Amino acid sequence: MTALSDLRALETTVSAAVQEAGRQPYEYARHELVEPDWRRYPGWAGVTEAQWRDAQWQRVNCVKNERQLRKVVGDLLTESFYADLRADQETLATMSMLLPPQMLNTMAPTASAGEFTDAFYADPVRRYMLPVRSDRDPAWPSHPHSTRDSLHEAEMWVVEGLTHRYPTKVLAELLSTCPQYCGHCTRMDLVGNSTPQVDKHKLALKPVDRQDQMIDYLRRTPGVRDVVVSGGDVANVPWKQLEGFLMRLLDIDTVRDIRLATKALAGLPQHWLQPSVVEGMERVARTAARRGVNLAIHTHVNHVQSVTPLVAEAARTALEVGVRDVRNQGVLMRGVNATPEALLDLCFALQGEANILPYYFYMCDMIPNAEHWRVAVWEAQELQHAIMGYLPGYATPRIICDVPYVGKRWVHQLADYDRVRGVSYWTKNYRAGTERGATDDPAAILSRRYPYYDPIATLPADGQSFWRANPAYSA
Ligand code: SF4
Repeated sequence: MTALSDLRALETTVSAAVQEAGRQPYEYARHELVEPDWRRYPGWAGVTEAQWRDAQWQRVNCVKNERQLRKVVGDLLTESFYADLRADQETLATMSMLLPPQMLNTMAPTASAGEFTDAFYADPVRRYMLPVRSDRDPAWPSHPHSTRDSLHEAEMWVVEGLTHRYPTKVLAELLSTCPQYCGHCTRMDLVGNSTPQVDKHKLALKPVDRQDQMIDYLRRTPGVRDVVVSGGDVANVPWKQLEGFLMRLLDIDTVRDIRLATKALAGLPQHWLQPSVVEGMERVARTAARRGVNLAIHTHVNHVQSVTPLVAEAARTALEVGVRDVRNQGVLMRGVNATPEALLDLCFALQGEANILPYYFYMCDMIPNAEHWRVAVWEAQELQHAIMGYLPGYATPRIICDVPYVGKRWVHQLADYDRVRGVSYWTKNYRAGTERGATDDPAAILSRRYPYYDPIATLPADGQSFWRANPAYSA
């Protein structure tokens, strides 16, 4: 008997090994999208589907503070979680809390009441939308080179809110609010309400004057052919005002690409499903098509849990009314999506189930108190390698480092890399719009090497000791 059971055990082991040898590092399986049941939250137990689909209901019921979170979640969360949240808001948060119900509902979607706090703590969407004190890096919450406006966008404003960083492209920040606030927001300098840590800068011009100046600059600057219309989030621009601005852009012959930046497509898809918005979008898309302009929506989804049937419906509706493409620009963050599985699960859901093209993943920028989210450049390179070959080539996202004063660079494009101190060096092949008239050795702009810094916690021991001894070091 013993010999027989030994033989069976051996057979099982061999068969498991054979199966394992045939497995891919990532196994694709199609998953149906699911809208988590919001009625699992005590505060939403009586909320109907009609209410849930109503953009106004979603906006009115956003969670903006601990009291409102308690009203929805109640004692599913322990007191220690609320204390951790409070500690973060008081000492480290760079963004204020703003969660549409849609977004909160994608956190811990299947956790039972008994395991809710643990699941909520571990949840990838919670980790970036509702950060707590214990999430942050205890030794280096900020890199010594982290800064507000780490991409220096305001320095490159040609008129208020219009960043001319690339030769042919501009970023138009129409407003400084969003329907949801992300903990890692790269525009934490300007976007959202002030927090105890960050007194936000304010746009000074009236929206109508800012838009006039932007349009005027674009009329005077025919070399700019591509306009990213952003904020904040364009979902917070009153529709008539947004449509008016887009129609004026479409009147400028030299503008050939328009991209609307809106995380709300995922955070508040109900906004993009409102009949007045859909009809308005159709008018804009028709005009763009008639004039041969590529009109696209760029959204910001970081985890597969956020891709729900409502998000897919909002994306498909935009495509149906003539928007040429809906693309995703996610942010790569430790604890959220920085594994091959998390990235590929998200990309397959976007591409296969929601008609959203996985386009970019940005490395999280060097803003204050973001070190626990950031990954090193070498980690990003490994992730890029790991996700190649599974998705269609055109839908395989590039992982991008947005290098201060340079712009977006694919993570394999660096010129040099000091792995001990965690400094990568990058070059640029154009002058920013604001650098064109520079008189101080303009050639130097193109020959200079620009540094980017890895999080100190990812460095080898000698690199970490170096930074402890030389926190003011500048490469
Ligand atoms: S939606 Fe975009 S602009 Fe708004 S808070 Fe999030 S990252 Fe910042």
